Amino acid sequence: MGRRIVLASNNAGKVREIGQLLADQEIEVLPQSEFDIPEAEETGLTFVENAILKARHAAHLAGLPAIADDSGIEVDALNGAPGIYSARFAGKGASDSDNLRKLLEELKDVPEQNRTARFQCLMVYMRHEKDPTPIICQGTWEGCILFEPRGSGGFGYDPVFYVPTHDCASAELAPDEKNRLSHRGQAIRKLVTALKESAA
Ligand code: IMP
Repeated sequence: MGRRIVLASNNAGKVREIGQLLADQEIEVLPQSEFDIPEAEETGLTFVENAILKARHAAHLAGLPAIADDSGIEVDALNGAPGIYSARFAGKGASDSDNLRKLLEELKDVPEQNRTARFQCLMVYMRHEKDPTPIICQGTWEGCILFEPRGSGGFGYDPVFYVPTHDCASAELAPDEKNRLSHRGQAIRKLVTALKESAA
């Protein structure tokens, strides 16, 4: 493929994982920070709307095709919250640990069997800022929320996301293993297949 693509994220955890996931492809992924592109405002009400807003913004400012990921965690006991608001659950500018603490606090009286949750990832590829047919891929990863953080890998909610198939927190998985299982890994693999099939 040999293409240059701007990655519409300033989230270091996402940039690292997407870089690892695209490492074997003939794609040069340039984080938007290399172009001094600020975060786009996420005004959509769905993951897909926000992913498109971010990709369009980066494609416009970099003058390159763009990939954007909009992702988050849906907790059943909170009726799907924080969902699209996962990065700002504890308020605008909240850190990962602020968000994680708020989640544990809100779930403190929720018993184990009701702590089911999932990560969602919407990955969008836009050939240019006005691309009317973006490639849209989705990944979902099922698990539940622990009572205490565990592990030091990953980012965001990984220390409290229990992975039933591996009996550990997502933050306890090796990076390759997380990428093999995760919502983001699933979405990126679909995107790579779609990119190979498309003449984009
Ligand atoms: P956004 O897509 O930039 O709106 O932010 C997504 C937010 O969801 C991140 O800041 C994390 O809090 C959370 N999130 C998304 N993917 C992951 C993951 O793989 N592990 C842990 N947290 C994640």
